Formats: sequence, C-alpha cells, structure tokens
Amino acid sequence: MLPAYNQADYPIYYIMSDQPDCCGKCGSRLDLMEIRMIDGERVFVSECLGCKCEVLLVED
Ligand SMILES: [Zn+2]
Repeated sequence: MLPAYNQADYPIYYIMSDQPDCCGKCGSRLDLMEIRMIDGERVFVSECLGCKCEVLLVED
C-alpha cells in the first residue's frame, strides 16, 4: 500500500505556456508573489485568489 501524502505539501509545477494565468483547481486568477530560483530555474510563485493555494509556474 502506498503511503498517503498531503497534496498541499507537494507543490505542482505548471509550464507557463500550458497553463493560462489562472488556478488549475478552481480557475480563479493568480497573483504573482515572487520569483524564486529553484535548481537554476526561474520559478514564478503565484497565489490563487480563490482557494489561496500556491501555484508554481516555470518557463517552457
Ligand atoms: Zn484556486
């Protein structure tokens, strides 16, 4: 049996060209909070204005 994990602890990365500027869960608009360098890649950290989840976008 696989261990269950809390999805909120596992941020999902979206490719910018695939993901319009809205939340993949609830479709609300995203608010860009910061740009973080992760493994040498620019990651755009956004917060959903609807469900308040963190959405990470990377460039293609
Ligand atoms: Zn949302």
